[in-house]
Amino acid sequence: MNNKEYNDNNIFYKIWKNIIQSDKILETDYTLIFKDINPTSKTHLLAIPKGKYTDFSNFCSTASSIEQISFWKDINHVIEYLHLCHYQILSNCGEAAGQTVFHFHVHITSSN
Ligand code: AMP
Repeated sequence: MNNKEYNDNNIFYKIWKNIIQSDKILETDYTLIFKDINPTSKTHLLAIPKGKYTDFSNFCSTASSIEQISFWKDINHVIEYLHLCHYQILSNCGEAAGQTVFHFHVHITSSN
């Protein structure tokens, strides 16, 4: 369980609020999906909820049902739209696990 408080001074908050630009793939009422600035695969996307959640556990325990359902469906929508037939979905939770941005996000990577 991660009880770290959400801090607005993070890059994904600024992307969500259009303070800084991103290469957007999909935006819905609940989700924003954009290209990772430093891709590790041919396709490397990041999905963030439009809400102040620090990590996976915080999102699952405090986001509303509609936010959670929409988030995963929006990710799947992009996967289908891009015809990714093989891919990874990963979320680093906690500094020791490699999380560097403390706004919950999911990496979607694929070699196609
Ligand atoms: P993590 O290490 O799991 O917290 O992932 C953070 C990710 O955010 C890394 O893969 C970075 O390349 C990516 N990133 C950082 N700044 C930006 C940005 N301005 N636009 C898009 N992706 C970014």
